[in-house]
Amino acid sequence: MSASTLRAAGMVTLVVAALLGSAYALGRSLVPDHPDRGAGVAASIHTPHYGDQPPSTEFPGPPGGGYGGPSPDASPSASDDARQPDDSEGPYGARTSTGSTRIALTFDDGPDPQWTPQVLALLKEYGVKATFCIVGENAESHPDLVRSIVADGHTICNHSWNHDISLGKRSPAAIRDDLLRTNDAIRAAAPDARIAYFRQPGGAWTYQVVSTCEDLGMTPLHWAVDPTDWQVPGAAKITQTVLAETRPGSIVLMHDAGGDRSGTVEALQRLLPELMHRFQLEALPTGTT
Ligand SMILES: [Zn+2]
Repeated sequence: MSASTLRAAGMVTLVVAALLGSAYALGRSLVPDHPDRGAGVAASIHTPHYGDQPPSTEFPGPPGGGYGGPSPDASPSASDDARQPDDSEGPYGARTSTGSTRIALTFDDGPDPQWTPQVLALLKEYGVKATFCIVGENAESHPDLVRSIVADGHTICNHSWNHDISLGKRSPAAIRDDLLRTNDAIRAAAPDARIAYFRQPGGAWTYQVVSTCEDLGMTPLHWAVDPTDWQVPGAAKITQTVLAETRPGSIVLMHDAGGDRSGTVEALQRLLPELMHRFQLEALPTGTT
């Protein structure tokens, strides 16, 4: 066969392949979604326990973006270039990295009178500073714990008034009011608190919520490592995931409230010395130090 015949045959093959692919996609789209798909997310929104699970498909996210789950940079296979800091960005540019080789532990959904003091005691025992993403109504209920967090030198992050996973879909004014109300509750407890970060509940970022938090002077804070401790997988699994996925620059997501956090506390007892052996740990910078 001549070269031109070969090219023509190649084109026909490509066209046929494309048509077959379209037919397959069409067939797939006609099959109803599995009924269980996303049910866990939908159910958890309506339970009293908070959780930073990836949101449902109601939040499609930015083009090419993903939510929640381990980012490609956080996967164990990324350990090949483990000496490079992770400087990737999360949804809508939210931070997933410290921007240096240091790592940052972040604790969400508190403060909680049972678990937050245990986390604070462990951090103090090991001399580690971390970041606490505080829910406004919990700050209002437990101002003493907000004061303890600030007094211990940890960084404060706004985590919305009542952990509204749909916050990003509300009006700009409603988002602004929610974030300001939360900051007010934190400052009512600790007037000198510098609130440099905001973390959208569930990681359900939208352009509007990022824009509003930046207008209010807060940096949108996502994460790179998520051991899904809110799903109570047990201390061993939490420990294993964090140790496997944390690399220089990682921001690690954990929870000091929103349910039974005994697994998280137990995991920290092993994680803190091990992470300190491997990395420098920091509270995210607030611009004042
Ligand atoms: Zn949360």
